[in-house]
Amino acid sequence: MDFTIPEETRLMLQSVRRFVENELEPISRQVEEEDRIPDEVVQSMRELGLFGLAIPREYGGLGLSTLAEVMVYEELSRTNACFRTRIATNNGIGSQGIVLDGTEEQKRRYLPRLASGEWTACFALSEPEAGSDAAGIRTTAVRDGDHWVINGRKHFITNGDIADLATVFAVTDPQKRARGGITAFLVERGTPGFSVGTVERKMGMRGSHTCELIFEDCRVPADSVIGGEAMVGQGFKTAMKTLDKGRLGVAASALGAAQRLLELSRDYARQRVQFGRPIAEFQAIRFMLAEMATQIYAARQMLYHAAWLRDHTGRPVTGQAAMAKLFCTEMAGRVADMALQIHGGMGYMKELPVERFYRDLRLTRIYEGTSEIQRLVIARELLKE
Ligand SMILES: Cc1cc2nc3c(=O)[nH]c(=O)nc-3n(C[C@H](O)[C@H](O)[C@H](O)COP(=O)(O)OP(=O)(O)OC[C@H]3O[C@@H](n4cnc5c(N)ncnc54)[C@H](O)[C@@H]3O)c2cc1C
Repeated sequence: MDFTIPEETRLMLQSVRRFVENELEPISRQVEEEDRIPDEVVQSMRELGLFGLAIPREYGGLGLSTLAEVMVYEELSRTNACFRTRIATNNGIGSQGIVLDGTEEQKRRYLPRLASGEWTACFALSEPEAGSDAAGIRTTAVRDGDHWVINGRKHFITNGDIADLATVFAVTDPQKRARGGITAFLVERGTPGFSVGTVERKMGMRGSHTCELIFEDCRVPADSVIGGEAMVGQGFKTAMKTLDKGRLGVAASALGAAQRLLELSRDYARQRVQFGRPIAEFQAIRFMLAEMATQIYAARQMLYHAAWLRDHTGRPVTGQAAMAKLFCTEMAGRVADMALQIHGGMGYMKELPVERFYRDLRLTRIYEGTSEIQRLVIARELLKE
């Protein structure tokens, strides 16, 4: 194993760190209050190439390795989580279906627009009746000549309200469902019958919207099937492959946030004086800092290894991605709890970012598969061997 990254990527990481410190962190609280990222900041994110990190160079992206990509997410996640989420659907779940299984025509039509950030993508799998049990979706697509007609309702779709392109999963053969009866479609904004419903009110992750998408007799051309005719019925596999990669991104976001919380806690412990000395001198506080640092260190090795395996073996990393997501997100939850404890009452106040990290991080144990589902995936992979 060699986690060395090319010089070019190292420079990119440095510029992302500067961007986070100079442009994103100063407006973090404003974004939280207004629940939106200013347009000029999104434009700066485009100029840095952040929307195309994982899109191959031949289609206008930066074509970073998985390892370099998770490192960029780590840096970006040192501030308000919504900034990473803004680019995450273009790099991850919203584009990877096309990158992995799309036809050449689909790649040429969509990837350059997603890589530049001109378009935003979203991934529409979850439904009110089908979350963890994704194979239980009820949205249907019925063939009608050279079109498909989609009917159904998706919910909790990240970036759904701003998406120009949705990857939509629908049942095309109710007898087969996940085994050859679910198909992935590319649906463009403005297609008649496709609309955005409720924008959900959430516990955290303000600045990033999660929405309901509605499909009412939505007709899409037959070439909207990801991968074309040969991939009709294969959409569930596309979804699972896409999530394998997406889970590494979620793990990285949890890791970056945990690292920042450790640094905030260390600095606070050095300057907060009680009983006549900095609280960093108390063993109870030192032990928490040591525990946080150790857990972060372990999580980072695990995530980098899973990313490295994906880059170097070309084999699926289903089990490793699930382990990395499970470990990094559960670890970050524990770290956030300790960070809040070290900050005492101030940790609970909106004045400091700790309470926001605490709320935002809670989501990482739920989306792109809950911790329970990651355990099921890990056990299934283990028992296959
Ligand atoms: C902010 C946010 C953004 C999201 N973004 C997207 C998106 O962009 N696209 C998208 O498609 N989805 C998205 N989701 C949906 C997300 O992936 C689901 O919420 C998640 O998969 C869990 O499904 P559920 O909410 O229906 O919970 P449920 O499946 O109802 O689970 C409830 C509880 O039961 C447990 N459980 C369920 N089945 C089992 C089992 N077999 N064994 C043990 N425990 C089990 C779960 O772990 C959980 O603890 C998002 C969700 C949120 C909250």
